[in-house]
Amino acid sequence: MTYRRYHGSCHCQAVRYEAGFDLSDGTNRCNCSICSKARAWFLFVRGDAFQLLAGEEHLGSYRWQPPGQAEPFLDYRFCLRCGIRVFATGEWDRMGGRFYALHVPTVDDVDREELVNAPLNFIDNAHDRPDRAPADTRLM
Ligand SMILES: [Zn+2]
Repeated sequence: MTYRRYHGSCHCQAVRYEAGFDLSDGTNRCNCSICSKARAWFLFVRGDAFQLLAGEEHLGSYRWQPPGQAEPFLDYRFCLRCGIRVFATGEWDRMGGRFYALHVPTVDDVDREELVNAPLNFIDNAHDRPDRAPADTRLM
């Protein structure tokens, strides 16, 4: 698989974006409290590879401060009309600064088989261990 550009949107189409990524980098599921509630499934995109095409005025924002953190790490953006979470965004040195965590189901033009065959990573943020998968991933 290779890096290419994809298009995505919320359910009502008010929010639309274009993003570049390589599916062979994998998609992610996390067990932290907010990811568990949202059934989060996301993939990382560098800030310079993401472009919001429409809908900034329809995007709500939720910032949450994880226990033990000095400030909220991510800004969760969701469509105020249809309620779909589209992405979270923040700053992270490992991603070269600004990055986006795209909600995978909002990507519209991804090939289903490519997505099925992409690596799926499980992240144990519930125990502050993003470097490993949790012992039990059955409901993630
Ligand atoms: Zn919407």
